[in-house]
Amino acid sequence: MTSRWALLVQDVKPDLPRFTFALVSIPLISALGAAQPVLLKRVLDEHLVARQAEGLWTAAGLYLAAVLGSFVIEGLYTVALAVAAESSIYRLRQRLVKHTLGLSQRFFEGQPTGQVLTRATSDVDALSEALSQGSISILLDISNIAAVLIAMAWLNSGMTLALLCLAPPLVAMIEFFRRRMRVLFAEVRDALAALNSFTAERLSGIEVLQLYRQEERTQARFRALDAAHRDANVKNNFYDAALYALIDGISSMCVALMLFWGARQVGLADGAVTVGLVVAFVDYIDRVFRPLREFSGKVTFLQRAGASLEKIGWLLGVEDRITAGSRELPPHSPGRLVLRDVRFAYRPGNDILKGVSFSVEPGEVIAVVGRTGSGKSTLVRLLARVHDGYRGSIEVDGVELRDISPASIRRAIGSVRQEVQLFSDTLRFNLTLGEALDPERLREAVELTNAQVIADRHPDGLDQELRERGANVSAGEGQILALARAMARDPAIVILDEATASVDPLSERLLQEGIERVFARKTCLVIAHRLSTITHADRIVVLEAGEVIEIGTHAELLAKGGAYAALYAEGFENTIRVASK
Ligand code: ATP
Ligand code: MG
Repeated sequence: MTSRWALLVQDVKPDLPRFTFALVSIPLISALGAAQPVLLKRVLDEHLVARQAEGLWTAAGLYLAAVLGSFVIEGLYTVALAVAAESSIYRLRQRLVKHTLGLSQRFFEGQPTGQVLTRATSDVDALSEALSQGSISILLDISNIAAVLIAMAWLNSGMTLALLCLAPPLVAMIEFFRRRMRVLFAEVRDALAALNSFTAERLSGIEVLQLYRQEERTQARFRALDAAHRDANVKNNFYDAALYALIDGISSMCVALMLFWGARQVGLADGAVTVGLVVAFVDYIDRVFRPLREFSGKVTFLQRAGASLEKIGWLLGVEDRITAGSRELPPHSPGRLVLRDVRFAYRPGNDILKGVSFSVEPGEVIAVVGRTGSGKSTLVRLLARVHDGYRGSIEVDGVELRDISPASIRRAIGSVRQEVQLFSDTLRFNLTLGEALDPERLREAVELTNAQVIADRHPDGLDQELRERGANVSAGEGQILALARAMARDPAIVILDEATASVDPLSERLLQEGIERVFARKTCLVIAHRLSTITHADRIVVLEAGEVIEIGTHAELLAKGGAYAALYAEGFENTIRVASK
């Protein structure tokens, strides 16, 4: 438990003065609160009942000062705690997101995205709740109850003892309710999670649902899940309300008994029970019951936060990140790529690349072909530094890839992935990703790759908004944009993993034109699926099951009559889509 909370130390530290202030003001708040009924009693007994005007103003003034004092200090305490808790949580969230953004692709592939998101949202929220409403305010409750009991015992120990006898059954009752509510709360959470994931999934697949006329059935499933959620919530609320009502009832009953008993005692010979005492005790009873009602709920906050903290700690503990080198490439490096005996495995012992060697000279265009699953995209991911941990050597202009600084790599290599990722933002953002790129270079890249044609389709041009994840962009247009995104950074080497998804004829022509213009300007490594791309390459590398089996020009390889010729004869079936002319 303690080690878990140690995780928060660095986030809490800058707010230590505020937390300390809150902590220090606790005894003051309790003392001022417990003093109020005593001061009230004095006004009542010594002045009102005794009809003694002298000193009334002092006594009343003292009471007023205690009320105002506790109002001010408690206000400051609440603000200090809220600010301290929220800023600590803010820092934790920043730290969590920064950490997560730096994790390697391999980590994300092994995780459902939703799970990582939950860490950053609901688990952090649980912590925020615990910090602002759990932790320190539990201490305040304990301190308040203790102060009130001491004051009560000082005023009248007999009545305090009688009241204390109520404590054990009361605590048992509260504990019973809270235990039930803990179970019910978990039910509510599960029901809500089921409802949310169902809704999200069905909404994302709404096209298929409508196509197959499944609206009714979906609605029925939704109704059942929603009903389960409602029932769990109703039960939970019932127990919550019942607990409040019971405690309020018991508290009122204590007050009634107090009044009844007090009325009989007041005015009896010994004068031990006065009107002021009865009023003070009525006040005290309320002051004891109020924190009792909240107390075990706050303990639940802490328990829940403990569980969340464990999960957050796990995520922060993941150290699966791409290692960054520090060597810089010269600004205008020519772009020569040499691979020597490159091996790579996603899982240890299962090599996907089994000793790949070839080189790409500056200005050359190399096409890599091979059957599906032969490791072509894997090769691209290694070169783009999406995956780490290759063996053998990959040199960019004579420097080992893993030693080059991230900034240098980005300048040297631009890569276009097989699956295009677009964001719900403007076309311009999707090209620059928010980076301040040279506008002239951006314009050139947009024209070169024919992305201008896409921009011109809308009056807003580059500032047109893409709908969610580029829903209003076709597959072919997406590839053109991805090519423009890479070219806008003017890299020495372009790595292109052609998409296998079919592209409409118009985009196909634009894309082809763009690719050819890029070929004419850059050193290129292309994972080719189109015959037209392959025939434009200077040399062709044939990959099979993670090994290079042939290298040569289109004509040479055909003449050789080997694997490439076989692929070609098959019409590149399942391998290379012949471009529609
Ligand atoms: P395609 O022509 O279909 O794009 P490819 O040649 O690009 O195929 P890769 O995507 O490199 O093939 O995959 C090569 C092998 O690596 C496949 O057997 C695949 O199952 C495996 N593989 C790919 N990505 C991963 C991953 N993230 N984790 C584990 N195995 C993977
Ligand atoms: Mg691939």
